[in-house]
Amino acid sequence: MASIPTRFDVIVVGAGPAGSAAAYLLAKKGFSVLLVERGKGLGDKNMFGGKVYAQPIREVWPELDKEAPIHRWVTKERISMVDGEKVFTVEYRTEKKVSFVTYLTQLTQWMIKKAEGAGALLASEVTVEEILMKDNKVVGIRSGPDVIEADAVIDAEGINRLLLERLGLVKKLDPDTVGLGVKEVLKVGESNIESRFGLDKKEGLAWAIVGDVTKGIPGGGFIYTNKDTVSMGLVLHLSKKLIDEGSFESHVSSLIEGFRLHPYFKPYWKDAIISEYGGHLTITDAIKFAPSKFAYPGLLIAGDAAGLLLSLGYTFRGVDYAVYSGKLAADAIEYARNNGGVSYENLQVYDDYIRKSFMYEEIMRHRGAITLMNSFELMSRYPKLLTKVMEKMFEADYKHEVIYNSLIQALKEEGISPFNLISQAFMMVKGI
Ligand SMILES: Cc1cc2nc3c(=O)[nH]c(=O)nc-3n(C[C@H](O)[C@H](O)[C@H](O)COP(=O)(O)OP(=O)(O)OC[C@H]3O[C@@H](n4cnc5c(N)ncnc54)[C@H](O)[C@@H]3O)c2cc1C
Repeated sequence: MASIPTRFDVIVVGAGPAGSAAAYLLAKKGFSVLLVERGKGLGDKNMFGGKVYAQPIREVWPELDKEAPIHRWVTKERISMVDGEKVFTVEYRTEKKVSFVTYLTQLTQWMIKKAEGAGALLASEVTVEEILMKDNKVVGIRSGPDVIEADAVIDAEGINRLLLERLGLVKKLDPDTVGLGVKEVLKVGESNIESRFGLDKKEGLAWAIVGDVTKGIPGGGFIYTNKDTVSMGLVLHLSKKLIDEGSFESHVSSLIEGFRLHPYFKPYWKDAIISEYGGHLTITDAIKFAPSKFAYPGLLIAGDAAGLLLSLGYTFRGVDYAVYSGKLAADAIEYARNNGGVSYENLQVYDDYIRKSFMYEEIMRHRGAITLMNSFELMSRYPKLLTKVMEKMFEADYKHEVIYNSLIQALKEEGISPFNLISQAFMMVKGI
């Protein structure tokens, strides 16, 4: 840090997808930009499940499809409900290039290189310890003894938001708004992936799983096929209520092991070795997690730090939202420059940009889903109900049960009234 200039137009904290996109666009627009990242290797600190929606990222990098490290385009989406060893699965197939599977580390490296190529200066292995304020306005950052000033700072520090917490802009992380994600990467081999998952070259699968894999804890499992590996893991919603009830008795390592060894899923990664594993927090209640404002004097908040993530159980959008918010932050700073300077009045357009964006509208439109994702019914009782109906339909020594009777019997066994079923099904359709 001692060898770099002490003043920039913009400082971006965090070289994840949000920070890299903002730094890239600002550098391209001619601003002097410092991108600060605490990780040693590029992308070291960035972790996710595996599937990325392409279109919002193409708005920043139209060359995405040709140049980015895309492992496979998602042509198959599966959803499974698990009850013990019984599993109910639905599958959807498409030819469209809507989303792709990749390693976030590789994608982030590509984005950072783009930002550097456009002229942003990257300072890696540097932890920002403080965002500096003067006269109620953010004026720069401090790392150890080094102070660097800027007209604006973009906070793209991700979910932990220690810097925003120190500024008093957000509260300490609340277990009711975040979940724990754990993931393993299994070396399966390219030809095994294609034959076992029924995929052609470059085709990929995204698989969401609810039910027993989380042993009743709200959340779910995921499987993504990379080029020659499979990413599989769990997202477990942390909640004060469940912690108090002692619902987290099963250790997370035993939950992921139970998932890996489940007889339905195990054959997909037969003889594979675990090449990587990791854990990271993720947002489970974007609305409660969001800061009250996205723009403050001299400061814009982007990506996970801004609570911009959509989690619907069957899909998860964090990376494209992060990139898109980075784009909006760059647009806001450009707007300010063209309208008399980076004053608070001018930067406030960012708040508007976010609230009017497709991301914010999506999050608000699906707010009912947040309640459902945290509901014990959806995660535990409905997978049981569905697999029970399937059992009664398919398993018979002589006579098959009529579906209506199977449903009524399964409802009785699960203690769910038909009225509850209808009203919750309505809520699910409405919320999700
Ligand atoms: C288990 C799991 C599965 C997920 N699955 C998906 C998925 O399938 N698809 C999807 O789109 N999203 C997924 N997500 C969400 C996605 O990973 C995030 O939404 C996305 O990475 C957010 O990007 P970001 O740039 O805001 O933050 P991050 O990617 O977290 O980047 C923040 C960066 O800031 C740096 N930093 C933090 N503090 C400092 C500091 N003080 N000084 C310097 N640098 C700092 C960090 O090192 C990091 O590199 C998943 C997340 C998890 C945990």
